[in-house]
Amino acid sequence: MSIIQHLINGEHIATAGRTADVFNPSTGEVIHQVSLADRATVQHAIDVATAAFPAWRKTPAAKRAQVMFRFKQLLEQNEAKIAQMISEEHGKTIEDATGELKRGIENVEFACAAPEILKGEYSRNAGPNIDAWSDFQPVGVVAGITPFNFPAMVPLWMYPLAIVCGNCFILKPSERDPSSTLYIAELLIEAGLPKGVMSVVHGDKEAVDALIEAPEVKALSFVGSTPIAEYIYAEGTKRGKRVQALGGAKNHAVLMPDADLNNAVSALMGAAYGSCGERCMAISVAVCVGDQIADALIDKLVPQIQALKIGAGTSCGLDMGPLITGAHRDKVKGYVDEGVESGAELVVDGRGLQVTNNENGYFLGGCLFDRVTPEMRIYKEEIFGPVLCIVRVASLEQAMQLINDHEYGNGTCIFTRDGEAARLFCDEIEVGMVGVNVPLPVPVAYHSFGGWKRSLFGDLHAYGPDGVRFYTRRKAITQRWPQRASHEAAQFAFPSNG
Ligand code: NAD
Repeated sequence: MSIIQHLINGEHIATAGRTADVFNPSTGEVIHQVSLADRATVQHAIDVATAAFPAWRKTPAAKRAQVMFRFKQLLEQNEAKIAQMISEEHGKTIEDATGELKRGIENVEFACAAPEILKGEYSRNAGPNIDAWSDFQPVGVVAGITPFNFPAMVPLWMYPLAIVCGNCFILKPSERDPSSTLYIAELLIEAGLPKGVMSVVHGDKEAVDALIEAPEVKALSFVGSTPIAEYIYAEGTKRGKRVQALGGAKNHAVLMPDADLNNAVSALMGAAYGSCGERCMAISVAVCVGDQIADALIDKLVPQIQALKIGAGTSCGLDMGPLITGAHRDKVKGYVDEGVESGAELVVDGRGLQVTNNENGYFLGGCLFDRVTPEMRIYKEEIFGPVLCIVRVASLEQAMQLINDHEYGNGTCIFTRDGEAARLFCDEIEVGMVGVNVPLPVPVAYHSFGGWKRSLFGDLHAYGPDGVRFYTRRKAITQRWPQRASHEAAQFAFPSNG
């Protein structure tokens, strides 16, 4: 069986130590082993990045961007192969895998604008014959730690931008589906990136801790579950590093009585069950304002959930594949069991699903709960599976209170024809990304992505303009050139234009 190796200094490196199984979740078979980096391997990647940094930071931004132009072309040429790799190890459908790659490529396109986004700010005659400017300089060696659910897109949120800003990058992808992530990094080297600028080390807590503890690593970007985000934020900032740590979610969709129901139902089907609910922007709670819209919604959802086409992710034309591991499937099932015990009404039960010819895959059918209440665990916690909960409320104000009281604040949306309600919702909802009749309001690459509350730790959101700020340090420079041979008297008052 092949062992997935690290990519350090452009070379594939296997270490003798620990490995982990990589599964095809559609069949339950182990298809690869992945090498788990020990501290020495991580340190090797850090040393290589540290050595590459002085030359890379001096490379003109336009030249750095040219690598990204070539990288974009290679990604597009290899789209089908990458989608297949994602689907085989993650289980999401080929169409969904292609979609995540395309959204990732948008971040490469943004990075291609490096000369423009790094122009800095300039003020002539800030004082008499004094010019002042701000320069945005790279922070140095940066590490990224990414989750299993977007093995292509989430790493692409990070390193194209970090690298065009002049940093060297070490990526620690999820050990559960590392092949596509590694292959994409190989394409970046093929695009002409100097080899030490980007390395990939596979691993688990040991590798992550080595990155956190290394003084050479100046910044950490993390995306994953909230407990690990909190850990990385606390440990990284304690050591004086910049950290942006994006965590988990519980995303609510509000259905107003005047919602365009057919479109809202289609939107909810995709947002709740697409990728088997394993998206940090998945809608997992539908908050219905009034019983009438709740009853009408359920009538329309039930037949569609029962008709979901579920099978091996690598087949085409499906709606949903399996969950990532057997253990995760059992955890999601456990939530469904508990929801029933706590008194929620299980309207559609996907627990008995069998997929012919894939009996050992980690499948679970779509589940729908009605009459969920805020104290239930299925409401409070992130389930990360194909489970949609309906909560009934009497007013928009109640719906908003519910959302604002939740510990997570990643994404939310409202379905309505009422502009006044939508505007109030956008103004006052305590969530970082908001959709109006848009179920998955994932910002485009030239905005920035991030939640509020326990969905993000750190001050800046990921990618886009916030990403540029995160991966650069401002240096403010003030300059004057006194006339040659002039002799100016010492000035003891604080200099000003007054
Ligand atoms: P995870 O937290 O288990 O793993 C994320 C990364 O952390 C992986 O690279 C993993 O190897 C590493 N890791 C795991 N345990 C660790 C430990 N004890 N110490 C140090 N590192 C550790 O998350 P996951 O299951 O891969 O991904 C799903 C989670 O990610 C969900 O909670 C989802 O909401 C979240 N997510 C959030 C966003 C966002 O933008 N907010 C995007 C995608 C996923």
